Amino acid sequence: MTQRNQEGVPEEILEKIKRLREEIEYHNYRYYVLDSPVISDAEYDALMRELRELEAKYPQLITPDSPTQRVGFKPAEAFKEVSHREPMLSLDDAIEEQEVYEFDQRIKRFLNLSPDTPIEYTVEPKIDGVAVELVYEEGFLTVASTRGDGYVGEDVTNNIKTIKTIPLRLRKFEEDAPEIPRRIDIRGEVYLNIEEFKRINEERIQRKELPFANPRNAAAGSLRQLDPQITAQRKLDIFCYGIGYVEGHIFKTQWEVLQTLPKWGLKINPLVKLVPNIEEAIKYHHEIEKIRSTLPYEIDGVVIKVNDLSLWEKLGLKARSPRYALAYKFQPTQATTQLIEVVFQVGRTGAITPVAVLKPVKIGGVIVERATLHNEDFIKNLDIKIGDYVLVQRAGDVIPEIVMPIKDRRTGLEREIAFPTHCPICGTKLIKKQGEAIWRCPNRGCFAQGVRKIIHFASRNAMNIEGLGSRVAEELVEKGLVQNPADLYYLKLEDLMKLSGFAYKKAKNLYQAIQRSKKTSLSRFLYALGIRHVGEAMAQLLAQRFKTLEKILQATQGDLTSIPGVGPEAARSIVEFFKDEENQRMIQRLLQVGIAFEEEIVSEEKVSPVLKGLTFVFTGALKNFTREEAKELVIKLGGKVSDSVSKNTDYVVVGAEPGSKYQRALTLGVKTLSEEEFLKLLRDQGVPENLLKKEPSNLDKPLFTRSLF
Ligand SMILES: [Zn+2]
Repeated sequence: MTQRNQEGVPEEILEKIKRLREEIEYHNYRYYVLDSPVISDAEYDALMRELRELEAKYPQLITPDSPTQRVGFKPAEAFKEVSHREPMLSLDDAIEEQEVYEFDQRIKRFLNLSPDTPIEYTVEPKIDGVAVELVYEEGFLTVASTRGDGYVGEDVTNNIKTIKTIPLRLRKFEEDAPEIPRRIDIRGEVYLNIEEFKRINEERIQRKELPFANPRNAAAGSLRQLDPQITAQRKLDIFCYGIGYVEGHIFKTQWEVLQTLPKWGLKINPLVKLVPNIEEAIKYHHEIEKIRSTLPYEIDGVVIKVNDLSLWEKLGLKARSPRYALAYKFQPTQATTQLIEVVFQVGRTGAITPVAVLKPVKIGGVIVERATLHNEDFIKNLDIKIGDYVLVQRAGDVIPEIVMPIKDRRTGLEREIAFPTHCPICGTKLIKKQGEAIWRCPNRGCFAQGVRKIIHFASRNAMNIEGLGSRVAEELVEKGLVQNPADLYYLKLEDLMKLSGFAYKKAKNLYQAIQRSKKTSLSRFLYALGIRHVGEAMAQLLAQRFKTLEKILQATQGDLTSIPGVGPEAARSIVEFFKDEENQRMIQRLLQVGIAFEEEIVSEEKVSPVLKGLTFVFTGALKNFTREEAKELVIKLGGKVSDSVSKNTDYVVVGAEPGSKYQRALTLGVKTLSEEEFLKLLRDQGVPENLLKKEPSNLDKPLFTRSLF
C-alpha cells in the first residue's frame, strides 16, 4: 500500500483491517492445514464479513493478498496439484432474507430487467461437506480433485474411487439421456452422514484423539487420508450439483443439468427444486430449515442459482464469486464460549450427568447457557477443563452439547473438572458398573428426595412459592432444570414454558411467585434450607438469637448448644450443613440472586410450634392468664391441651388452689410446673415476650375463638 492510497483513511480503520486479515489468515491455517479450527464457522464468517464491508467502503485498501481475494487455501504438500479447467468459485452467502432480495434485485439491475420481472431459480440444500471436481473423459473417471483455492486443488483420485456412489464410468441409464460428453467436469459435495460421523468420532475418542468438530471436517479429513484404505473404511458419500468444463453437450439450464446427471449414474440431492421466483426460493429455504434436523446428513443452508445458463455468462463474476448464485445460510448451530462451571445432574434413575454452565452465547437465535457433557469419559477423553473456551452445538430441539475444548485458547488458569464421588442430592457414594460410562446414585429414593427438597423449600411456611407443588417440582428435577433450591431463581420464563401444561400466563405466574419469594425472613429461609433437626420453631429461634445469616454461618457447636432449646444433635447438624461445600455454594447462589431478609416480625400466623408433641394439663388459677388464654397459647405454640391427666401427659401446670388433677399427676409421676416454671420453659424455647404478657392483644384475635375442648 502506498502512502497516497491511505490518505483520508482513519488510522483505526487501517489498524482494524490489518488485524482482521491476520486473524483470518490464522484461522484459515487452522482450518485448512491443521484441520483443527478454533472458532465456529459462523464466527469465521462474521470476521470475513466485517473485512469485506470495510474493504467495500475503502476499496483503495484491497490488496491482492487479502483473504477476501482468495477462494480457498493452498493444497497440502502431500497431494499432487490439479488445475481446474474452469475455476471452482465459492459463493457469496446471506443469512438475512433482505440480503436474498438484494441478490435478486442486483441480478435484475445487471440484466436491465424491471424489478418485478420474475427470475427462475434452482434451489437445493447446501450440503456441509467438501467440494470436489470429478473429471470424466470418454465416460471414464480420470481425475478427482478438491476445490483447493478454486483454481488449483489436490489430487484425491484414489480416495474418491473408494466412494461407492461415485461411478467410475458414466453410462446412459435412461433412453432419453443425452450422449455421454467427450469430457465433462462434474462438481459435487462429498459428505459423511451423521451416523457415520458419530461412529468415527467415538473411535477417535477411544483412541484419545481429538474428535472432528463437525461432519464436514470429518469428511475433509477422510478425503485427505494418504492411505485410501482408511478413506474406504469411512462411508463417504456424494451429491453432485453442477458441471464445470464440458465438451460434447450443451446444457441450457441448471435444471437440465440436475435432471441429466442421474441419467448418467451420478447422484444428486433428492430435494432439488425449480422455482419461478425469489419469493419461492425463500419459501423453500424455510421449508428445508424445518426438516433440517430430520435429514441424515448435515446442511447449513440452501443454494439458489439462476436457472438459465446463458445468463450466467452475462452476469459474470463480482470479485471472486459468481453473481448468479447465492448460499442462503441457516442461523448458525455452533458457537464458542467459555465453560464457567460444571454441575452434576441426577436423573430419575440415579444417572449422574455432568452439565456445563456456559457464559451465555447466542446460537441460532437462542441464548444457550447450559450444555451436556454426557459423562465422565467424555470429559476425560476430550480433556475439558473449567475455564476452557469450548465449541458448543445446538441443533434443532436437541439438548445443546459441548463439541470440544479449544485448547489453543488456554491461559493456564483452567481447572480440572472434579467428578463427584458422592451424590449431589442425597450424598450416597456413587457407583459405576463395569463397562458402563455412567455413574449412578444407588439410592432408590434419591430422585424423590431431591424433589422433596424443592417442595419443602417452596412450601407455604418456608419460601412460600405459590404454584410450585409436587408435580411441578418433579418435572423441574426430571428435566434437569432444577437440582437444588438455588436453581429455582435462575430459571427463565422460557424454562418454565417448557413444563407440561404451562403456557405463557401460567409460566409467568410461577416466575413472578419465585421472584416474590426472594423477599423473605431469615427464619423462613433457614427453615426452607431443610437442615436436619431445624423445623420452623428452631429456625425462628436461630433467627432471633443470631439476627443475621452471617452469624449463623459462623456459629460453632458450642455457640449453638448454649441456646436453650438447641440440643447437641441439632447443633451438630447445623454446623455440618453450613460446612458442606455444596451447601455453601447453594447459599452463595441464593444470596447472589438477591434473597433479602426483612426484620423478624413474629405475627400471629407465624409463631413457631415449639411445644409440638407436648401435652399440657392446667389446674388451679393462673396469675398471668386465664386458663382459656393459657390453653390457647399452648395450642398456638403447637402443643396439645388435655382436661385429664394420663401417662401421655407431659406437663401439669399447677396454679393456685389446684384440684384433683395435681394429685393424679403426683401419683402417675407426671412432671408438674409452677406458672413461673411454665413461663421459663416458654422463654427458653424462644417464645417472644409479647406472647407471655397478660392479655396479649394478639391472643384476642378470632383465630382461637373456636373451643377445642
Ligand atoms: Zn442420590
